[in-house]
Amino acid sequence: MKIETKNLTKIYGKKIALNDISVTIPEGSFTVILGPSGSGKTTFLRILAGLLYPSNGQVFFNENNITDIPANKRNIAMVFQNYPLFPHMTVEENLGFSLDSQREGNLFRRRVFTSSEVQIKVDETLELLKLEEHRNKYPSQLSGGEQQRVAIGREVIRKPVVFLFDEPLSNIDARLRYEMRTWIRKLHDIVKTTMVYVTHDQSEALSLGDNIILLNEGEITQMGSPENLYDDPNQKFVAQFIGNFPMNFLQFKSSKNTSYLALDEKTTLPKKLLNELLKREITEGEIGFRAESIREVDPDKTIEENQIVLECNVVDSEKILDQQVLTLDFSGENLIFVTRTKKKFKINQKLSILLHTENLYVFTRDNKRAF
Ligand code: ADP
Ligand code: MG
Repeated sequence: MKIETKNLTKIYGKKIALNDISVTIPEGSFTVILGPSGSGKTTFLRILAGLLYPSNGQVFFNENNITDIPANKRNIAMVFQNYPLFPHMTVEENLGFSLDSQREGNLFRRRVFTSSEVQIKVDETLELLKLEEHRNKYPSQLSGGEQQRVAIGREVIRKPVVFLFDEPLSNIDARLRYEMRTWIRKLHDIVKTTMVYVTHDQSEALSLGDNIILLNEGEITQMGSPENLYDDPNQKFVAQFIGNFPMNFLQFKSSKNTSYLALDEKTTLPKKLLNELLKREITEGEIGFRAESIREVDPDKTIEENQIVLECNVVDSEKILDQQVLTLDFSGENLIFVTRTKKKFKINQKLSILLHTENLYVFTRDNKRAF
């Protein structure tokens, strides 16, 4: 099922929770709705589900305007954080019950199943979800992960036209969270049903999504593939939100003859950058660069024209497996530098780092990406 929204807006009292959201969620995609807490993710998902009515705008499933169709007639599966199983029913019974309770009159399905049809579907689902050995167990006899798989299985068996997930893994421990997200992704690759997955966790979004819609304060900031959002952020918010480390930023000023960093007023920016700034008539803004793109200055190599050297002090260092995460001070501004070198760094030692023009992003004063 392809989902399309046109100018969706939701206002609670005076609060604009969603503002003019027009998106297309491609048929069969795994689309992640990402954004900080309060950005409107749940509101958006609940409108897709039919649990909330928009203040303005429409929702289309394929080409059908379903804005006025109630939730129970949309044949969607909604998976939240908690989705308890019936404790007095076995795994098999929990799955079958989901079909028994199927109501007639659903817009996208108009029939009720016989008990032998139910059995066939239960068997298929147990096989698909690799839960056959648990068929006769009660929920209390299952691990947390198995319980979640059965709970999702109760939705899978109904063959919904779309799965909607609202932060289903946010309250579980890291190991299970990792296991479950891999499992959900595999499930998608098997059933190939459109899935819309809400999370505030950018690493979850990057690892799961084919397609990410990033929300902030009820508005879309950027849509695209994980690579697209990481490599080509369209504004400062995206560059700060996406990535294991937020991007580093330094203010610059630029005139006809020179452009330089505002903090020390002496580190000049390469000619190539100056030309781009002149072309766009940008006189001030920020350069951004990722912690992963910084290199240490190699004293045996000459500095090239398209490189910038920053003389820093080490403020802090942390080792994470084979990575070192250094906090550096450059003229009073903290920068994050991630390196795989085995070298040890001392607090307060001097460290010269190298930025390459190719790895620089330029943002204008209104926090939009210039180039
Ligand atoms: P998210 O899921 O991204 O955390 P929500 O969609 O739950 O965000 O909420 C978006 C904004 O709308 C928030 O500022 C929230 O406080 C507000 N909001 C959500 N539901 C209601 C409601 N029923 N009444 C008033 N404000 C609400
Ligand atoms: Mg929410």
